[in-house]
Amino acid sequence: MRSLREVTTMRVGGTPASLVTPQTKDELIDACLKAWGSGENWLILGGGSNIVAAEELSLLNVIKVETRGIQIDEIPTGAIIRVQAGEDWDEFVAHTVAAGLSGIEAMSGIPGTVGAAPVQNIGAYGQEIAEVLTRLEFLDYETGETEILENSQLGFGYRDSIFKHGKTGVILWVEFKLKHSAHTHKTERLIEALGDTEETPLEVRKRVLALRNQKGMVLNEQDHDTWSCGSFFTNPIVSRAFASALPEECPRWETTNEDELKLSAAWLIEHSGIGKGFALAASKAGTSTKHCLAITNRGDATAGQIIELAKFIQTSVSNRFGINLVPEPNLIGF
Ligand SMILES: Cc1cc2nc3c(=O)[nH]c(=O)nc-3n(C[C@H](O)[C@H](O)[C@H](O)COP(=O)(O)OP(=O)(O)OC[C@H]3O[C@@H](n4cnc5c(N)ncnc54)[C@H](O)[C@@H]3O)c2cc1C
Repeated sequence: MRSLREVTTMRVGGTPASLVTPQTKDELIDACLKAWGSGENWLILGGGSNIVAAEELSLLNVIKVETRGIQIDEIPTGAIIRVQAGEDWDEFVAHTVAAGLSGIEAMSGIPGTVGAAPVQNIGAYGQEIAEVLTRLEFLDYETGETEILENSQLGFGYRDSIFKHGKTGVILWVEFKLKHSAHTHKTERLIEALGDTEETPLEVRKRVLALRNQKGMVLNEQDHDTWSCGSFFTNPIVSRAFASALPEECPRWETTNEDELKLSAAWLIEHSGIGKGFALAASKAGTSTKHCLAITNRGDATAGQIIELAKFIQTSVSNRFGINLVPEPNLIGF
């Protein structure tokens, strides 16, 4: 039996009671209904890149989604693409860019599966999955039935969706609408990162991958800075009044709510005295040497050490700035 240390990118966690790897949609539905009917604890796992699992997990049944399939339907302006949940997100991005489609190229290099992507409305450099996802198929834990959920029903927000608020079950496939476009439409964040020049989706993908590599944000077996869940905390959203009391140098961005601003969690951490490569005494958990927002496993860290460092960072930022940082990864078994 594989331990969660072997199937998550933080590389911590114990051995579950069972781990199955459905390869087709029917197998996935059967595996879920069986696990849910047993009354025992269960976990849907994709690429394990947003999970920190405890060492003690003996009563957990894990369903690791490995379903594959990409179906492209051309339309005059672009394409409608249906992707099975177990497809690798970045391989899917590469596929769309190669087909001359635009809309997700700034999200190149995000690890994990397509099925997990709507759960926290993944995003990078100003692009979010919520902007291009049309609908998805969902097997509901409460009813045991499948249903089609449209974009407007998914409660998307910054790193947020209904799947983080009690809508429990498994995403079976996700459908996207992407545009044919010679150049990427650059958001404010993408202009900040790449400059205001015209670039093809392929050029944007290459440059985003290079930037992410420099920050340890692309998985690399050899590089401990990538043994992580990416950003460990979401960027906090605060009122304009609260933000005005913070030092001017603290980066802040507009949100959809004009009374609120989004702050840089990385800046807050760094200015609370926790820099890159920080570790507590005798701990194998540390902030990335490239980016203090990522908590990383320096070799043989325990899940407890990861959580201990996360709590230390939260306390430091709260004491210094009065802001409570919220963890982005899913904490399993704590
Ligand atoms: C180096 C690195 C960089 C990262 N950069 C970014 C980034 O730039 N932007 C960003 O948004 N995220 C980023 N992440 C976080 C992570 O990659 C995303 O959250 C990703 O979508 C997780 O996919 P996964 O398949 O690994 O999910 P997992 O970690 O396996 O699961 C995450 C959650 O989704 C649930 N889940 C998984 N599959 C399904 C399914 N089919 N149906 C229902 N629920 C499901 C799980 O139960 C769990 O609650 C990064 C992570 C790492 C390690």
